[in-house]
Formats: sequence, structure tokens, C-alpha cells
Amino acid sequence: MKVAQNGNVSFWYAELGGPPKPRAPLPGDREVDVCIIGAGFTGLWTAWYLKQADPDVSVAVVEREFAGFGASGRNGGFLTGAFPWARDRYLQHGHTREGVIALERTLRGTVDEVIAVADAQGIDAGIHRTDELFVACTQSQLARIKADHANAMRWQVPPERLTLIGAREVADRVRVHNALGAMAIHGVARVQPAKLVRGLADAVERAGVAIYEKTTVQRYAKGRVDTDRGTIRASRIIRATEGYTAGFPGESRTWLAMNSAQIVTEPVPEAIWDQIGWRNGELLADAAHTICYAQRTADNRIAMGGRGVPYRFGNATDKAGETQETTVRSLHAILHRLLPQAARLKLDHAWCGVMGVPRDWCASVGFDPATGIGHAGGYVGVGVSTSNLAGQTLADLALGRKTELTGLPWVNHTVRKWEPEPLRWLGVQGMYGLYSIADRIEARGQTADTSRLAQLANLLTGR
Ligand SMILES: Cc1cc2nc3c(=O)[nH]c(=O)nc-3n(C[C@H](O)[C@H](O)[C@H](O)COP(=O)(O)OP(=O)(O)OC[C@H]3O[C@@H](n4cnc5c(N)ncnc54)[C@H](O)[C@@H]3O)c2cc1C
Repeated sequence: MKVAQNGNVSFWYAELGGPPKPRAPLPGDREVDVCIIGAGFTGLWTAWYLKQADPDVSVAVVEREFAGFGASGRNGGFLTGAFPWARDRYLQHGHTREGVIALERTLRGTVDEVIAVADAQGIDAGIHRTDELFVACTQSQLARIKADHANAMRWQVPPERLTLIGAREVADRVRVHNALGAMAIHGVARVQPAKLVRGLADAVERAGVAIYEKTTVQRYAKGRVDTDRGTIRASRIIRATEGYTAGFPGESRTWLAMNSAQIVTEPVPEAIWDQIGWRNGELLADAAHTICYAQRTADNRIAMGGRGVPYRFGNATDKAGETQETTVRSLHAILHRLLPQAARLKLDHAWCGVMGVPRDWCASVGFDPATGIGHAGGYVGVGVSTSNLAGQTLADLALGRKTELTGLPWVNHTVRKWEPEPLRWLGVQGMYGLYSIADRIEARGQTADTSRLAQLANLLTGR
């Protein structure tokens, strides 16, 4: 199935009339206090909080394309404050259960924080407060969401944040085909991500940060960042390149460049909304092993995403968001399966992007005072809210401040590197192959228990 992509990077930019005209590149050698590599949410939030904490600190952000070119301008627009990583993996280096609970609580607060900054800065990003529905369409999926809910309660997630709802309530909200129930996550919001990241870049610039676009960082080391346009000397350097990190010398095995892709329909006619419901614009995800996620956009389309082709050999990345036809077909099939009412809708756009996945699938913030070099990422698909906390934390770390945030257990959380190719590629293929088999078995036999298959899949990649 051919769907227009038109070099627009994502539908979110197509909606804005195409990708923005880039800001000027680095005009030659410079010296600043903090140099940030990458102008996505992580880099921009870090710059923002640095300036909030100390207006005198000089900050430069260096971006290869334009601010928001990466995942930050292409994502599903789920602003959730969620904690999708294995909680007990943060119990190392003396961190406690209470520390992990505090991290999760602080992350939940990022939804309000992002919205407060957007409001104060006049960023119109189509933000809509709502719930996320994590829908189960088979008995096995229902068992999984119940287990996830019970586990979250054991980690003191407040009961008002997560509730289990039955089939009837799901249908009252969104008529998802065969839905048996859902976990409703309260206190989340839908955003138009390109509007949010572009608005944030403007706010950061107004705060006095220099953003150099069309400038490629070739390498960095203590005190210097070498680009194709000159060298920036800085005592503190932050790498904020999540899914693109493998492009730097020595980082090819740090984070795997995981692919995620989306399709968007034409605007949905009222008669079809009457059949689907979805009047409160909930964020929608299903509990299959191969995830999918969807939002009702501010202009009343359905944007649906999922893995498609999960990983390209050697951490290769897409060209300006162009995705494969097989991916479009598989997402279209998921859309038909979950929302058959939408089967006849035309697709207006398809795109993809990359996100960073660490070997233990757990996000982290890192900073080494000895070199002045820091980083954040590995958010595994939950970066819209997490990057905000990463930015707050990196600002504290770069300014040498010891705060509650710098003591949270994801700070300097370390993990071993990925295997070299072809093992890495084989591992991811194997994992998603097994997930697909498990999903098909579950879809056929409603009560099938595929936990062994899923465990085996996870074993392959350490998930
Ligand atoms: C399709 C998709 C859907 C997603 N959906 C969601 C969602 O709904 N909710 C959610 O929470 N998360 C989601 N995510 C994840 C989330 O978008 C990311 O985790 C987050 O945006 C990462 O932000 P970042 O700033 O760290 O990285 P990015 O936004 O990827 O920014 C990195 C930047 O670094 C630049 N760069 C790379 N190399 C260099 C270099 N050598 N020199 C200079 N600049 C460089 C890139 O051009 C890029 O602009 C999704 C991701 C994808 C791909």
C-alpha cells in the first residue's frame, strides 16, 4: 500500500505545512559553559532548566537537521509520565525500593510540568488531558493487564492513577473490537508532538540559548565538541541523541536504534465517530506483545503506531521518516482489527522514527563530573514525559547541584553493552518473531497462555 510521505518527516510536520526552515548553523568556533548535542526533547528540556536555574550560564545546542527532527517530532503524542521499565532493575548501587517509588512518583509529575511550561510559554500543542486505555482483547491480554495492575499496586502506584475497567466501560468510551477490559491510566495527556517540540525550541531560544541547526557533531571528548562547522569548547557536554547515539565513535553498542512507525487516516466523518465513540480523545494502546498505540488527533483523525520492522541491521536509521510498505500494511491490519469501523478510511500519511533501547530496557541519566560529559535516554518508547525529568536532572548535574532529582535511582544507572552484529539483529528478529507467534496463538485460542514464549522472547534481548 503506497501512502504519501513527501519528505515531511512525520504527519505532525505535514500538518504544519512541511518541515521548518532550519536555523543558522554554527558560524565557527565558539566557547560556552554547556554544549548540548541534539535538539529533541531531551536536549531542549536540559537547556530550558539550565537557564531557569542560572540565567548566566551560556548554553549552545547543536543539531544535525532541525530542532524536533528526531523522535520528538514524530512520536505518538502520548504524554503519560509512565514508568514502563522493570522496577527491580534499578535496585543496584545501593538504591532502595523507596527510591524507585520516588522516581516513579516524580515521573508522574512531568505531565503537569510539561503542560505548565507549555501554558506559560504560549505553546499551542493541541494538549488534551485524558486517560490512557490499555485495552485487552483476549483472555491472555486481560490476565496480563491484571498482573501489571497488581504489580503497580505493590510498588505503591496510587490506586487513583490506575484502574481496571470492564468491557462495557471500554465500549462506552471507545468501541474497540473484542475488548474484554482495560487498564485505565489517569492523569495523562495527548499532544501534537511537533508543535510541542518546536514551541519548546522557540522558548529555549527566547531564554538565551543558541541553537545551531544543520550542524553535525562528529565526535566529542572532555572539553570539546567537534562539528562539521567548527569546534565548541565547553566544560560540560550533554549527549541528547537517543536513537541516533550509535552514530558516535565508541557508542555503536550503547543503545539499540529501535524503530517505531505510524499511519494516520484522513479526517474521520462524524458518522464513523458515532460508531466508534472515542469522544474524550483517550490515548489507546493494546496489551498484545507487539505493542500498538493510537490517538484521536486534534483534527479528528486516527493516528496509529506500532513496531512494523522493529530494527534495521547495524542500527541503521530511516531517511527523513520514510517507512516501509510492509510496515504500513501491518499497521493498517491492526487498525482494521481493533477498529473495523475505520476500515474504509483512506490513509493520509505514514512515517517512522528511532528510539534508544539499552541492553536492560531501562532508561537512565548519566553524568561524569570528572569529564563533564553527560547523557540521557533509553526511554524505550516513553520519552515525551521522561525527557522532561531527564532535562531537569541533567541541569542539576551539569551545575554541580546535589538535589532530590540527582539522587534518584536512574541517575548513573549502568548496564552492559549490546552484542555486536549480527547477534544484535538476530536477537531482535527472534524476539519480535516470537512475540508475533504468541499474539497469533492468543488471538486463536482466547485462553492460551503464551507467557513461556514471551519469556523466551525477552530472554533473547534482556527485556
Ligand atoms: C514513532 C515513535 C513514536 C513514539 N511515541 C511515543 C509516545 O507516544 N510517547 C512517548 O512518551 N514516547 C514516544 N516515543 C519515544 C519518544 O519520542 C523519544 O523517546 C523522545 O522523543 C526522545 O527524545 P530525544 O530528544 O532524546 O531524542 P530525539 O528526539 O530523537 O532527538 C535527537 C536529536 O539528535 C540529533 N542528532 C543525532 N545525531 C547528531 C549529531 N551527530 N550531531 C548533531 N545532532 C544529532 C537528531 O537529528 C535529533 O534531532 C516514540 C518514538 C517514536 C520513534
